[in-house]
Order: sequence, then C-alpha cells, then structure tokens
Amino acid sequence: MAISGYDCSEHSLGWTYKVQSYYQASANITIEKDPLSEDVHADICVIGGGYTGLSTALYLAKNGIKVVVLEANKLASGASGANGGQVSGGMRRDQFYLEKTLGFTKAKTLWTIGENAKMHVNSLIDEYQIECDYKSGIAHPNHKQKFCDESKAYVDYMNQTYEYKDISYIDDSQMREMTGSDTYYGGSYDKSEAQLHPLNYALGIAKAALNLGVNIYENSRVISYKEQQGSMNVQCSKGSVIADRVVLACNGYLGALEKRLDAKILPMNNYIIATKPLSEETVRRINPRDIAFADSRFVVNYFRLSADKRLLFGGGENYSTSLSNRILPIVTKPLTVVYPFLKDVQIDYAWGGKLAITMNRLPYFKSLFGGKVLSAQGYSGQGVALASYAGKIIADKVCDSGDVFDVISNISIPSFPGGRLLRSPTMKIGMAYGAILDRI
Ligand SMILES: Cc1cc2nc3c(=O)[nH]c(=O)nc-3n(C[C@H](O)[C@H](O)[C@H](O)COP(=O)(O)OP(=O)(O)OC[C@H]3O[C@@H](n4cnc5c(N)ncnc54)[C@H](O)[C@@H]3O)c2cc1C
Repeated sequence: MAISGYDCSEHSLGWTYKVQSYYQASANITIEKDPLSEDVHADICVIGGGYTGLSTALYLAKNGIKVVVLEANKLASGASGANGGQVSGGMRRDQFYLEKTLGFTKAKTLWTIGENAKMHVNSLIDEYQIECDYKSGIAHPNHKQKFCDESKAYVDYMNQTYEYKDISYIDDSQMREMTGSDTYYGGSYDKSEAQLHPLNYALGIAKAALNLGVNIYENSRVISYKEQQGSMNVQCSKGSVIADRVVLACNGYLGALEKRLDAKILPMNNYIIATKPLSEETVRRINPRDIAFADSRFVVNYFRLSADKRLLFGGGENYSTSLSNRILPIVTKPLTVVYPFLKDVQIDYAWGGKLAITMNRLPYFKSLFGGKVLSAQGYSGQGVALASYAGKIIADKVCDSGDVFDVISNISIPSFPGGRLLRSPTMKIGMAYGAILDRI
C-alpha cells in the first residue's frame, strides 16, 4: 500500500503528523467498489487500478469492449495516488542520452511519444472535466554549477533541432529567485510541463471509466493467471475472471505475479511530505510563480505548492520490500538542504509509494502469451503522463488501430544485473554511489 493509514506520529517539536497521503486527505471524489466474489466474463481483464489500468479500461470501454478492472487495494492506492504530481515531457532520460544510446530516429520517436503523453493529460482533463488543480510550468534547477553549460546546450539543441520552443534557459539569479533557494544555480524551465493533484486526476479517470460501463473491483488481489482453453483465467481469492486478454498494469507493485518481467524492472520506494499551509510571505519567498521544481540530483528533489499552499516536497528513496513509516528523516534531510530556514516547519502528512524503474529509464512494454497478455510498466518516475497515455496505447493495440505499443516494446531494455534475488542489492550500491555524487 502506498498509504499507511491514519497513524499519527509525534514530532520532537511537539506537533503531530499523519503517516498518510495529503492527496487522500484532499480527494474530491469517493469511489467505493466491492471485491470480486464470483466468476465473471469479460473481453479484457485489467490487473491494477492506477493510471495505466484505469486509462486502459477507459479507452477500451470507449471502443465498446467489455472490461473488468481488478485492484488489490483501493483505486489509485499505488503510485498514481501518491506521486509528486509533475507532468513531465519526453522520457525520463534526455534527448542527448537517448540519441547517444539509440540513435537520432528512435530518440526522436520517443520524444514525440513523451510529448503526446504530456498533451494527452490535458485532453483527458478537458474531455472528462477532471478537477485536479492543473497548473503549467516546471523548472529544473541545477545543484552544481558545472551542469549549467550542459543545460544551456540542451535548451539550444531542443529549440533548434527539435523546434521545441517551450523550454528556456534560466540563469543563476533568476533560478534563485524562482526557487527561493541559494543552493541552486541556473537550469531550464519548461512552460508546457505541469503539475496536478495526482489522486484526483486518477479518480477522475476512474469515474469516466465507470460512466462508460467498466466493472471495477477493489480489494481484489489477483493471485495468479493462466491460459485455459484459449482464454485467460484470472484468479482472485473469492472469484475469477475469464477474459480474451489480460492487461498487466501493476508497475512497482507487481511482486511475483509475473516473474518473466522481473529482470527488467526494479521496484523502489520514494517519499513525500506536506507541510502545514505556509504564510503568504513564505510562499512568495519559495515559489513566487507557483510552478513545480525537479532538480538535477541523481536522487531527484521535487517540490511544489498544493492548492492550499502547503509545500509538497519529495526526495529520498530506498529499496526495502515494504514502505517505511519513518519518513520524516528521509525527506527532511534534502528539504533542509534546499530550504534551511524551513528546518522547524510543521509537517502535517508524510507518505510514500512504489515506482518501477528500468536500467535505461525507458518504459518497458511487453506482450506475453502470444499477445494475450499486454504489460506496461517501468516509467521510471515519469508515469503521470506516460502511464495515463499507456492506456490509450494499449487500447489502440487491442483494437488494431495503432502501433505505438510495438514501437515501445521494440526498444531494448537491458536486464538488471544480479537477477531477481540480487538486482535490489546490486542497484542499492549503484544508487548509493549516485547519491554520494549528488553531495560532492
Ligand atoms: C513517491 C512517488 C513520486 C512520484 N512522482 C512522480 C511525478 O512527480 N511525476 C511522474 O510523472 N511520475 C511520478 N511518479 C511515478 C508515477 O506515479 C508512476 O509511474 C505511475 O503512477 C504508474 O502508474 P501505474 O498505474 O502503472 O502504477 P500504480 O499507480 O502503482 O498502480 C499499480 C496498481 O496495481 C495494483 N496491483 C498490484 N498487484 C496487483 C494484483 N496482484 N492484483 C490486483 N492489483 C494489483 C496496485 O495495488 C496498484 O494500485 C512517482 C512515484 C512515486 C511512488
């Protein structure tokens, strides 16, 4: 579970905070669905009720396909209801990296997919009138001056070669004014990247899917699935779904359900805190333009203001099987590096979620059982746009009306070294090294 409930913990400064997502506390839609308790039939069975699963269900239903969604917990209780809410463009790695490793043509194709994903968020919000506090603009401040030349070169390159004009270079003093933090140097600003309330966005997609007749079951963990007499048999503890095809949309929560994907994706935990609503003066100081930030660190710090002017600050990660409840030490460390003057700020909520990364940070789409199972995961921390677009890509594949699924699944994703048992410790060492580089 991304959300650890309503536990209250006391801080040494005397205030209490909830080990619960702020998004859950400010959700504007309530959806309650019964668990699966019988054997049902559907054209497609979607496993996982986050952005990937819900948008797949929505687009399939739009095409008249009978869909059942099985969610192990509550809808969007995974990363989709817990994330930083940053709507980024392109892929998790920049075009310099993608061109170097994949060549210009594939890199350009991935850029276009990422941009379509970013714009697709707006179309969903507009079409289904999803109220999710959407606001434009993400700045990417550098925590080291030596990165600034590369940022400048990247902005020029994107402006010219990709004719992408939404990104601009921000110098040291402008960036310090934008962030209210003198730990940062220059960086880039992308005016068409955005931020939103991730849970309300997910629940808005769910509501639209329900209105189109999708059957959703919560608290219905899939234990196993197999091919049986030409169909797929998906088993929960108190019922089953017989479907023509299955869509696997479990990302960081996949666990042992499909071991064939193990080598390519690695789950990791990431954490966020929400402060109490800040004074107008502090808001003006730390974020006068009310935009979102994602910095240049290997373990990225990302932060923005909520609609009620709390600082939502994410940073710090680990790889343990379960999420930590001792979140404050993990997140306040980077928070006080960026904003030392907020070291005693009252924190009202602290929570975490699991995402899935791939070795080259590109999404991992895979067709299994001769196309009877389609799987999409590994958005590597960039799933607000990509995962909610994945649903359209999967539905297009099912309806034979698009080839983007094949384009993505043909991109080579290296395996993590160490196999299922050792990939986590091996990556821990790699990530710890990256975190050390952040500090020196
Ligand atoms: C703390 C955090 C911050 C992040 N910040 C950002 C950000 O700012 N911008 C961005 O673009 N991305 C961000 N991400 C990543 C983004 O949230 C994910 O990429 C995206 O939500 C993935 O959506 P999904 O639907 O594929 O997976 P999820 O939302 O994780 O959904 C998977 C679902 O599958 C269910 N499930 C698993 N196993 C089973 C089973 N056996 N049976 C039934 N159901 C099952 C789970 O319960 C879960 O609800 C962040 C992630 C985290 C954790």
